[in-house]
Amino acid sequence: MRFRSLFNPTSVAVIGASRNKGEVGREVLTNLIDSFDGEIFPVNPKADQLEGLKCYDSITQVPKRVDLAVISVPSTIVPKVLTECSDSGTKDVIVLSGGFKEVGEEGAKLEEQLKTIARNNGLNVIGPNSMGVISTSSDLNATFAQEMALPGNISFMSQSGAFCTAVLDWANEVGMGFNHFVSLGNKAVLDEIDLIEEWDRDKKSEVILAYLEGIQNGTKFIETASEVTKNTPIVIVKAGKTEAGASAAASHTGTLTGSDVAYDAAFKQSGVIRAGNVEEMFDFGSILAHQKPPKSRKVGILTNAGGPGVMATDALEGYGLELAELQRSTLDNLEGVLSSLASRKNPIDLTGKANEEDYREALNYMIEDENVGSVLAMSAPAAIFSYPELTEIIAEARKKTDKPIVGALMGGQLEPEAQNNLKEAGVPNYFDPARAVRALSALVEYGDIQRRDRSSSNHFTIKKEEADQKMERLRESEIEVIGLEGMEVLEDYGIPTIPAEIAKTPEEAADLAEDIGSLVVLKVDSSQIVHKSDAGGVKVGVEPADVAWEYQSMMETLEQTRPEAKINGIRVQEMVKGEEVIVGLKRDPQFGPLIMFGLGGIYVEVLKDVSFRVAPVSRKQAREMVESIDGYPILKGVRGKEGVDIDSLVDIVQRVSQFAADHPEIGELDLNPIMASSEGARVADVRFRFAE
Ligand code: ADP
Ligand code: MG
Repeated sequence: MRFRSLFNPTSVAVIGASRNKGEVGREVLTNLIDSFDGEIFPVNPKADQLEGLKCYDSITQVPKRVDLAVISVPSTIVPKVLTECSDSGTKDVIVLSGGFKEVGEEGAKLEEQLKTIARNNGLNVIGPNSMGVISTSSDLNATFAQEMALPGNISFMSQSGAFCTAVLDWANEVGMGFNHFVSLGNKAVLDEIDLIEEWDRDKKSEVILAYLEGIQNGTKFIETASEVTKNTPIVIVKAGKTEAGASAAASHTGTLTGSDVAYDAAFKQSGVIRAGNVEEMFDFGSILAHQKPPKSRKVGILTNAGGPGVMATDALEGYGLELAELQRSTLDNLEGVLSSLASRKNPIDLTGKANEEDYREALNYMIEDENVGSVLAMSAPAAIFSYPELTEIIAEARKKTDKPIVGALMGGQLEPEAQNNLKEAGVPNYFDPARAVRALSALVEYGDIQRRDRSSSNHFTIKKEEADQKMERLRESEIEVIGLEGMEVLEDYGIPTIPAEIAKTPEEAADLAEDIGSLVVLKVDSSQIVHKSDAGGVKVGVEPADVAWEYQSMMETLEQTRPEAKINGIRVQEMVKGEEVIVGLKRDPQFGPLIMFGLGGIYVEVLKDVSFRVAPVSRKQAREMVESIDGYPILKGVRGKEGVDIDSLVDIVQRVSQFAADHPEIGELDLNPIMASSEGARVADVRFRFAE
């Protein structure tokens, strides 16, 4: 493994081991002494001995090569110390010292120095400004936190050090264990991508959890996480969720795209499960650490109280799960257990009359039912049975099956014995049935992620040369926002458009309409008018015979609304019926081209019914984008109305993805609206802008 010594060293040096108790350099030394079985070398030129260990003036003085160095010296000395580490053959380093990028310009310079030294010498550095690293599999507590973590199969990283300490406190209290626990600090050298790769290789890290504030290398992140999530679930809480899109954006896509949207798209795309908050992250983490994803989304609910059973049932739908329909044979078997008052369909309510034996039998029947993918074992406290016994029954059931079982045993704190039974069986338990269902949904989601199609995006044959030339010319035109003059490039990419030729006079317009021979749409052509309809520059449903007159009338309107605009003429376009959808693109600084699909037209920003993925978008992903919007049923056709050709939309999404990849110079793009019908989809309006 690449960071063998970081998580599994045989010797550790503490550079800056302080003589003063309570200081970071001293705390980390005592933590190491308390936890670690290997050799420990304190380094402090001012001390001869600390905690009974001989002190060295520098790591270069230590008589043997040290696997891991933990540095806690003033930031200005860190570069020197780092060089000494490298000179003495130590490759893995944790820098606890603060005073780097987080404090301003001077610190940022020091951090650059640190990076250069690490790069030139191939050092693996965690931090700076890290709280340290814990590896329970090596009994290593190289942090200055108060406590050591409990052992477990979850590995956790956090960009916030303060949050690390809080998590450690809490995890120890609830009995949650970790394999590796890393405070990332400023991520100057090693970042989340390195650790994800490492933990994927590490068999003891079965689930990866992360609390992140940002991801620098978005493209690499997607690439790595997409691979890793095949085998190892990744759950991330991303702080800073509410950041809004840039309001000055010229396109609808630009307005609807904040950085959070990019994170969301990137996580979806790479199979990362996003947790909305810290509680969720740990709920998801602990169920993923102990149970395998179910084969179906169908849940069997067993309860002795009706109300909570109903609550759980309600929660299922909200989390994309379904109530299993029990097999006839299961129901027949259950007859023997159920009292006359009990419900005879899922959720099975045994009522307060049931005892442990009844629960055991019912649970077993439910597990054996092929229609049941997973089981929610619920109960309200009842005089007739005890939780220690009930949890034993649940634990037994777990041994017999691969199907997930989640507990919602309500009441106050469970007896330690009951808690222990569940813990040993790997059955998470929640007071709130909705929370139990939510945890279960993460397991189902991970099953979907593992099964999903990972085919890469297909490449269309397009008229590349023609398109390149056109793009070059558009770029040279120095028009700030390209409008309908950009339509032909789309055709080169095989994206169907509704041609809109320009007329310079009413007569020319009338001739164009005559050629089209049906109702037309008139659209002003001016590089100063970006949103044409806002200015009165769009007229739909015009009879060819009225075109000349409408031309004049639009010119007069524009004279009022936009007197300053230089108008090149008016474009004439066939009027096309259909549902209006939008496909857009916005280049994100971290993740690159973000593709958007949604219900379009002029209400797109009001409806905000859109979905995002990062290009390149595979066929499957493009389809998911189309299917995942709320308005999808409208596209499928409702109340006898014919649906639209979904494939043609999927196709456009993919072609735009290819366009985005080929032309990194495009900053944002809107195809809005695209008129979609059962006959196909055609672009009626385009708008794009080159990136600075
Ligand atoms: P802009 O976005 O600059 O206001 P559009 O070309 O998108 O101008 O036109 C505005 C609206 O007019 C569209 O959202 C759509 O409702 C309608 N429209 C535009 N072109 C057509 C067309 N060819 N067929 C039918 N409706 C159209
Ligand atoms: Mg438009």
